[in-house]
Amino acid sequence: MIKAPPGTKDILPPESEIWQKIEETARKIFKLYGYREIRTPIFESTSLFQRSIGEVTDIVEKEMYTFKDKGGRSLTLRPEGTAPVVRAYLEHQFPQKDQFQKFYYMGPMFRYERPQKGRYRQFHQIGVEVFGPSHPMMDVEVIAIQWRLFKELGIDNIEVVINSLGCEKCRPAYRERLVEYLRANRERLCETCQRRLERNPLRVLDCKNEGCRRVVREGPEITEFLCEDCKKHMEQVEKGLQQLGIPYRVDPFLVRGLDYYTRTVFEFIHKSLGAQNTVSAGGRYDHLVKELGGPDIPGIGFALGVERLVLILNARGLQEEKKPLYFILLGEDSLMKGMELMEKLRNNGIPVMWTGKTGSIKAQLRLANKKGASLVAIMGEDELNRHSIKIKNMETGEESEVKWEEVSSFLSSYYS
Ligand code: ATP
Ligand code: MG
Repeated sequence: MIKAPPGTKDILPPESEIWQKIEETARKIFKLYGYREIRTPIFESTSLFQRSIGEVTDIVEKEMYTFKDKGGRSLTLRPEGTAPVVRAYLEHQFPQKDQFQKFYYMGPMFRYERPQKGRYRQFHQIGVEVFGPSHPMMDVEVIAIQWRLFKELGIDNIEVVINSLGCEKCRPAYRERLVEYLRANRERLCETCQRRLERNPLRVLDCKNEGCRRVVREGPEITEFLCEDCKKHMEQVEKGLQQLGIPYRVDPFLVRGLDYYTRTVFEFIHKSLGAQNTVSAGGRYDHLVKELGGPDIPGIGFALGVERLVLILNARGLQEEKKPLYFILLGEDSLMKGMELMEKLRNNGIPVMWTGKTGSIKAQLRLANKKGASLVAIMGEDELNRHSIKIKNMETGEESEVKWEEVSSFLSSYYS
């Protein structure tokens, strides 16, 4: 039997209901903040990701699904959403027409990683990208959107962690100090970090290895190196978060796995997730648009991992939706009338389910039970002659016979 490839998974009902709930809530919230949807292709030119994410990153070094198409082009299944959105923003000349833009997206991303809880090869992200504003209050807004999303989904023990990665003025000094420090502690670092140390030292801060983490936490803090502007920016972000009542913690060692970030970076952490505990993350990228060939336009965004959010919501238990009215039709004549009646009920917004079975009432009731139906409508010859159907509540056993024209109003309070 052919199985789904490693690191991918099918999203089956009833779990798909959680996905819908997340997507609906996100869309509603994005609208509240004036964000509009953008949909970009699932694959892009490989160079887009090489140039934006950075050559010496986990993603570009080992996680990309890259292939040659039949025309010999090197393409990559998108590992993240920001670079494609920037590419589209430039390709469609937004900087010339209207450089201030707020986009949101949702969809699958692809990374060749070791599959484990909360880590897949095809996973899904919901995210936003804002182009134009450099004001720290926009950083606050982007954090507030995520905060609201978690609140609305009923998740409260979520932790907001922020940091500043500085800018091209102040980061080099920190970087220099960091390299100096890491070199002195070289033998305590894992092999990968010994290599990272020379090529992309900030990546060492992101290593999950316990030993490396210890070294990092005893080392220099970027917050001590920030220039006046970056320091002010960070202070403003903190003030804004306080003003909105969003609790946060500053972690001077927080970095992100992609090279393009400047100044504010943040993560939303949920302890229940274990090792992969970052649900949502992002930050400011003031030079990415320029690095991808556009004008100097700042940006900021976040990406949320839907699978990890589903894990949190699943652990909390599913609040099941009302099951549709389950129809049992007995005999050809009631089948005809029943089809019409079901359509009329649906016209009135009542969800109705019919299995296509025409067997005995006993067999059909057994099936209804198996499907977990809570309300069943039964129409046989007697009911047909009386222009009515029987409605049975499977939980209480209560039965009522209702005239066809009254079924909708009879059920309206149940399905409202
Ligand atoms: P991690 O440190 O967990 O690998 P990352 O730094 O690679 O995360 P980002 O690239 O910032 O993560 O992606 C944002 C969010 O997307 C993550 O916080 C996570 O929720 C989700 N995510 C990233 N990679 C995966 C994956 N392989 N499987 C499932 N979700 C993922
Ligand atoms: Mg990763």
